[in-house]
Amino acid sequence: MGFIQDILPILKKRELLFLENYKESEGVYTFLFEKEKDLTWKAGQHGLFSITHKSIKKPIRPFSVASAPSENVVKITMGISDDPSEFKKAMLELKQGMRVRMSGPVGSFYLKDNSPSLLIAGGIGITPFRSILKQIEAEGNGVAKQINLLYIDSKKSYVYKDELDGIANNTSINVTYLDSRNDLHQEIDKFTTLFKNNGKYFIAGSKSMVDSISIYLQDHNISKRNIKKDAFIGY
Ligand SMILES: Cc1cc2nc3c(=O)[nH]c(=O)nc-3n(C[C@H](O)[C@H](O)[C@H](O)COP(=O)(O)OP(=O)(O)OC[C@H]3O[C@@H](n4cnc5c(N)ncnc54)[C@H](O)[C@@H]3O)c2cc1C
Repeated sequence: MGFIQDILPILKKRELLFLENYKESEGVYTFLFEKEKDLTWKAGQHGLFSITHKSIKKPIRPFSVASAPSENVVKITMGISDDPSEFKKAMLELKQGMRVRMSGPVGSFYLKDNSPSLLIAGGIGITPFRSILKQIEAEGNGVAKQINLLYIDSKKSYVYKDELDGIANNTSINVTYLDSRNDLHQEIDKFTTLFKNNGKYFIAGSKSMVDSISIYLQDHNISKRNIKKDAFIGY
């Protein structure tokens, strides 16, 4: 039932009104779209976004919705290199009043209960977690939950850092910034030692990063069913 509920909204398509974009940091851009009244999502889910203002070869990409439903805007944030895909070039061409199509939001990458949760973000994989943490902050129940975010970026370029620090101040959520795999493993070990399989483990980032951390967790006796993965295929 849950799986069907998480996947069925893929059939729901809508045209989102583009509002603005801005640069978060070197090579990272945020795009904002109007949130229609009847649009909602579970914090952590993603949509399938399509370019419609011109014809390009691969016009569809999945992106996590980085805003919480309570924020009343659809926010996506993406890495855009100096030589981006046609899709990302087209995103940068968007002007106020233009539209992109979105299917969904879909997916099962969201918190389901109050279990202690370890959220592990690699680079741009922070996007679903921004939504999750913003929603917890808005609901005002951050104190009741044991949530630790580990955010690894080898270039120490932490997108949303000010906002994440604000959330950490307002709630009992812990945010730890890391730049090496060794340190990440040490932080993971602390959590697994305390909570073992009573905890839930969420990993988002490039597919290689997500897979290797999932294997690390399983090697430390964390059961696969307690590990949720959001692999950003394409990086
Ligand atoms: C569930 C899900 C959620 C996702 N959410 C997000 C999200 O929130 N934000 C996000 O950015 N992506 C997200 N993605 C990935 C996204 O859909 C694209 O696949 C990704 O952004 C790559 O985009 P692109 O194909 O347009 O290529 P581009 O980013 O333009 O890159 C073109 C090519 O260059 C390579 N490349 C790009 N940058 C570099 C670099 N610095 N060094 C070396 N090679 C490089 C890429 O691997 C690619 O082959 C998500 C994917 C999934 C499955």
